Amino acid sequence: MGRLTGKVAIVTGAASGMGLAQAKLFIGEGAKVALTDLSSTGQSIAESLGDAAIFIRHDVSSEDQWAAVVKQTEERFGHVDVLVNNAGVFRAATLEDTTRENFDLHVAVNQTGIYLGMRAAAAAMKRAGKGSIVNLSSAAGMRGTPGCFAYVASKWAVRGMTKAAAVELAPYGIRVNSVHPGVIETAMVKDQPPEWFSAVCSMTPLGRLGQAEEVAQLALYLSSDESSYTSGAEIAIDGAATA
Ligand code: NAD
Repeated sequence: MGRLTGKVAIVTGAASGMGLAQAKLFIGEGAKVALTDLSSTGQSIAESLGDAAIFIRHDVSSEDQWAAVVKQTEERFGHVDVLVNNAGVFRAATLEDTTRENFDLHVAVNQTGIYLGMRAAAAAMKRAGKGSIVNLSSAAGMRGTPGCFAYVASKWAVRGMTKAAAVELAPYGIRVNSVHPGVIETAMVKDQPPEWFSAVCSMTPLGRLGQAEEVAQLALYLSSDESSYTSGAEIAIDGAATA
């Protein structure tokens, strides 16, 4: 308890899966959290989490909406210390089956969304005097996972942007790290066939899928002052699948 006491976090994609697990854990550890999501189901979720939570409907690919998210969070909670760029999309397709629309969607949400988020949060964190940015990449951002070409491209971009931002923002006391989950049991993968899950487990040395709460624990560590010398890192959380 209390590992984030006094901190204010923005968590994107917080109406579901890992973002929701992060928001709940962060509040339990003393943070105030702005939950943002494209889906307005986040409204009732934030209400159920009490005064430490607000919900802001938000498309991460919109520059204007990022400015509003930071402004509303500062108005409500005073400052911004933590940003978890968690929102993401996954539409499986091989290179040859990837339409321009599929490619552009992944770039807009998974890549441009994180660039805009880091840029908006950096200004707020400079005002606060320090900060931590956690970017959700993927095991697919560490190798050439087959069958999801645009997703892989966008998640490698997250890894690169994280390192560039970590170097640039270090003088302001702002740390930036990327998190690379293997397959985690959330809505994002729920429509995959049973044989896909069996194949994933057989290729994962720990022999099972991951849980959203396990990834939230890593995001908590990176968001807290416990990780004060960790920046520019890429951390796999995948049961040794990419080891
Ligand atoms: P999820 O589908 O449960 O949650 C994603 C959330 O992002 C949803 O609530 C959705 O409404 C929101 N979202 C989508 N587009 C948005 C937009 N334009 N603006 C704002 N919000 C938007 O997925 P999850 O598994 O919890 O994924 C969280 C992150 O982890 C994503 O970045 C994903 O790519 C990454 N990831 C997931 C897995 C996995 O196996 N589930 C593995 C590696 C990485």
